[in-house]
Amino acid sequence: MCLLRQAHLIAFVARVPEPVCTWESPHPVEIASIFRSGLESPAVWVCRNEDDANTIKKGVNQIAAGQLLGYPACCIDALQQDNADLEDALVRGWTRQFGYDPERIAQAWHEDRKVRIEFEPKAAHRVPRTFASFPFVQHNACESCLGHGDTPTAALNSVYRNLVAESDPALCDYWLPSQAFKKKTSKGQLR
Ligand SMILES: [Zn+2]
Repeated sequence: MCLLRQAHLIAFVARVPEPVCTWESPHPVEIASIFRSGLESPAVWVCRNEDDANTIKKGVNQIAAGQLLGYPACCIDALQQDNADLEDALVRGWTRQFGYDPERIAQAWHEDRKVRIEFEPKAAHRVPRTFASFPFVQHNACESCLGHGDTPTAALNSVYRNLVAESDPALCDYWLPSQAFKKKTSKGQLR
């Protein structure tokens, strides 16, 4: 990886990106907010840019982290929609079980009580399709990016594929034949 050897990399441990609510919940905010607790887990970060490292050390939310990592805005929006859908399903499940009393729900939530949730994560369908079509990107592509044409994720995949081909041709070859095979078998698109 000669390109990486030339770069000055800063490695450190900081908090994982926090979820951020950008949607209007159809439910009472005092109930919806019960399910918006922050994440405390640590993560290892590797940066080239000292300003970005300092920003991350102070704590970033998932949107800011996605922007720093160069994820397309449409795919960041799709993640937010997934989070909104999950929150909606949680509120529906917990109010069905405990009614609309925020204190009762909060107590049950913190007691780790189990509630049946009806939720089909759309992201679960997009993960294998992203991997099949765009093996070089690190994010989950949105539905629009998974369509035809030169979508933002397709463009990013090409940039990363060229970078890998230039810095480690063997690694690039390792990925590409398996992708060509998938193209024949599952109509995955090689871009
Ligand atoms: Zn997208």
